[in-house]
Amino acid sequence: MGSAYRMFQRFFSHAEPTASVRNLVRLDLINALQQPSCSLCYLAHHKSLRYVETLLDTAVIDVEKRDAWRHAKGLCHWHAHMATHIPQSHSSLAMLYEDLLQHEMDQLDPLASAAPASYAPPKRRKRLLARRIQRWLQSWQQCRPCPVCQLWSEQERLHMTVLLHDWHEPTLQGAFAQSSGLCVSHMARLIAHGSSHVHLPAVLMAQRERLHILHDELREFIRKQDYRFAREPYGSEADAWRRVVGLFVGTRWFS
Ligand SMILES: [Zn+2]
Ligand SMILES: [Zn+2]
Repeated sequence: MGSAYRMFQRFFSHAEPTASVRNLVRLDLINALQQPSCSLCYLAHHKSLRYVETLLDTAVIDVEKRDAWRHAKGLCHWHAHMATHIPQSHSSLAMLYEDLLQHEMDQLDPLASAAPASYAPPKRRKRLLARRIQRWLQSWQQCRPCPVCQLWSEQERLHMTVLLHDWHEPTLQGAFAQSSGLCVSHMARLIAHGSSHVHLPAVLMAQRERLHILHDELREFIRKQDYRFAREPYGSEADAWRRVVGLFVGTRWFS
C-alpha cells in the first residue's frame, strides 16, 4: 500500500489527537450524527469505502505490502463485497486475489500430494500428514485481521475519544441530541473505550434519551397494529420497527 494509505495511518494514529485533528474529527461526527442511523456505523461504512478505494489503487504496485495482504488473506467478508461494488475495481481485485490464490494453492500442495513417501510405512505417512495438517491449520488460525478493519478500528477509537473529550461543545451535544444515538454495539465499545472518562455518564444520559424516544415510537407503532387504531396515519414511528433492528445489529449500506 502506498503513500495515501500511510498518510491515513499517520493522520489517524495519534494517541493524543492535536487540536486540528480533533476539529476535523468533531466535524465528521457532527455530520454523521445528522444521518438517520448510528453515526459510528455511518462513518464505518463511508471511511472504509475510502480506505478500500485507496488500497485497491495502491496495493497492486506496493510489493512491500504484499506479504501483509497475504497474511490477512485479503479483505474480510464485508470489505471484500464492498470492493466488488467499486467501479474500476475489477482489475486490481483480480491481481491481488490472483496472488492470494497462488499462495493458497502452494500451501495446499503438501497436503494434497499423495506421497510424502508412498514407499514409507502407512504409520509414518499418517504422522507426516498429521504434522503438515497441523502446520497448515496453525498458519490459517494466525491469519491477520483485514487491513481495512484494522485501519477503521484505529479511527473509530479516535472518533470515540473526540466524542468524549469534546462533549462540552454545544454543536456536538446538540447534534447528538437530534440524532438516532449509537447502536448497541457502538455504545458498548464507547463504554469500554471511555470507561473512566469524566464525560461518559453525560454521553450515556443523552444516549438513554435517544433509546427512550425510539421505545415510545415503537410502542406507538405496535399500538397502530391493532385493528381499532389501524386507520390512524403513521408519523415518525412508521419505520421504528426497522430502526430498532439497526439499533441491535448496526446499520450497513448496500450498493
Ligand atoms: Zn453503530
Ligand atoms: Zn474488513
